[in-house]
Amino acid sequence: MMGMYDMFKDAVSMAQKADNIDLVKTILELQQKMLELQEENINLNEEKRKLESIISEIKTIEFKDDCYYFDGDGPYCSRCYDAEKKKIRMLKFDTQLGSIYNRCPNCKNEVLKETYHANIMNL
Ligand SMILES: [Zn+2]
Repeated sequence: MMGMYDMFKDAVSMAQKADNIDLVKTILELQQKMLELQEENINLNEEKRKLESIISEIKTIEFKDDCYYFDGDGPYCSRCYDAEKKKIRMLKFDTQLGSIYNRCPNCKNEVLKETYHANIMNL
């Protein structure tokens, strides 16, 4: 099968033989448009591949207690995922004063996980 580029070349030379300068111009403009569409198509395919890889990686996203869970695994920082699509595991942080937080080691986002009765006298 003849490539599009060769077809344009043929069309241009035919138009030149017919001495039709307007047709030559129109064909060249069409060729330019085709190149732009090809480039756009390449970019869209690239974007599609990225999205497909994100989808295949994450089958289910659950938002629970202000954190994300991916396929039941978590908690992950909602802030990092929403802003940068980064999966950062939250770490447990105990204040020793009656509160346990889930804390993001990347952005330091803190989410209260649970509270307990702290015996201040023992500190
Ligand atoms: Zn974070």
